[in-house]
Amino acid sequence: MTHIRPTNEKLFNDAKRHIAGGVNSPVRAFAGVGGVPVFVQRAKGAYIYDTEGHAYIDYVGSWGPMILGHAHDKVIDAVKAAAEDGLSFGAPTPSETTMADLICQIVPSIDLLRMTSSGTEATMSAIRLARGYTGRDKIVKFEGCYHGHSDSLLVKAGSGMLDIGEPTSKGVPADFAKHTVTLPYNDIEALTACFEKFGDELACVILEPIAGNMNMVIPSHEFHQALRRLCTEHGVVLIFDEVMTGFRVGLGGAQAHFGITPDLTTFGKIIGAGLPVGAFGGQREIMECIAPLGGVYQAGTLSGNPLAMRAGKAMFDELTGEGFYESLSKKTDYLIKGLKAAADKHGVPFETCAVGGMFGIFFTDQLPKNFNDVASRCDAKKFAKFFHGMLDLGVYLAPSAFEAAFMSAAHTYEDLDKTIEAADQVFSQL
Ligand SMILES: *Cc1c(COP(=O)(O)O)cnc(C)c1O
Repeated sequence: MTHIRPTNEKLFNDAKRHIAGGVNSPVRAFAGVGGVPVFVQRAKGAYIYDTEGHAYIDYVGSWGPMILGHAHDKVIDAVKAAAEDGLSFGAPTPSETTMADLICQIVPSIDLLRMTSSGTEATMSAIRLARGYTGRDKIVKFEGCYHGHSDSLLVKAGSGMLDIGEPTSKGVPADFAKHTVTLPYNDIEALTACFEKFGDELACVILEPIAGNMNMVIPSHEFHQALRRLCTEHGVVLIFDEVMTGFRVGLGGAQAHFGITPDLTTFGKIIGAGLPVGAFGGQREIMECIAPLGGVYQAGTLSGNPLAMRAGKAMFDELTGEGFYESLSKKTDYLIKGLKAAADKHGVPFETCAVGGMFGIFFTDQLPKNFNDVASRCDAKKFAKFFHGMLDLGVYLAPSAFEAAFMSAAHTYEDLDKTIEAADQVFSQL
């Protein structure tokens, strides 16, 4: 049965009256796939429901946080109980300590941390901290990695290799961008050349240790080893941006997956269980540079919000349960194998990758290794057709070929089979 959504166009037009572009974050506008966004009424478990009551099996999961599925009973109970006690105090609460203890216990590279209200704040603050700690200005990031929308990070590579960066957004001063060097992801040669040229001027290298904002790209072990070695040799702070991968690709995140110890880590998405939260933390010596202990300023009126902390705690109780990630990984593998088989059956060039509860699908015959591969080799038109075909059959994927997909504990094998059947039908028409 095909979903037809006549009211969405009206809702989108209503939204555009007073919300810039009708959305509060650009990817939601469906610009990458065309058409009109689905307006969501509510969600439960693996499903979201639109304003017309259609159900969709959801693989966006609010872009990662909903690893337990939507409106998980224990999380909702925790939020209700927290709300009864008051929404925010601007003073310390024991639940912040509980969350910090939990995160430090799960992620051994973190001695001290700070909560923020978003992933953007976490990465922005981690970079300021790295600059304050090293007394250096230059930073390195990688093409296709997204770290939120702060000025230093909305930068792409200049016209020549190792040139100064250029802003990717209007409003970012070129003077700012010049401190950011942008390198191709997963490329040891480029990294080595950069360290040869700038090694002792670099404050930090920031990366998604498994990239999830250029679709999904899993870098090589050697790339991670080279990063760790070069950063150590040159006194450069290695920042793993695990806003997406943290507690997603496994309980210990990408750093546990690769066995690499970063100096600082940023979190977001999952740790708030769907409420606005971020965090950054790492080596004690570096973190002690933060105010009030040190001279690097960082603050937040709603940071460590009690609803978010108590929701996060309820969620961690589930994540740390026996076999949680094994079960999640099995489902992810089952789904991507099923999708791949369906694509093969219809002769559609298609590749997949996955770690834990995160996966990527690509309309190409070769898994991409970096942003350039994703942008140049993957068939975005085919993806857009696939996206709309799946949507009409009740499967909600990210509305962009440059996003990863997410599994939740609430997805059943029946949901996965339904997804594979829908894909089989859509592939046959591509
Ligand atoms: C989502 C994301 C961010 C930004 O987090 P917000 O909460 O949207 O500000 C930063 N880094 C990565 C890797 C992300 O996926």
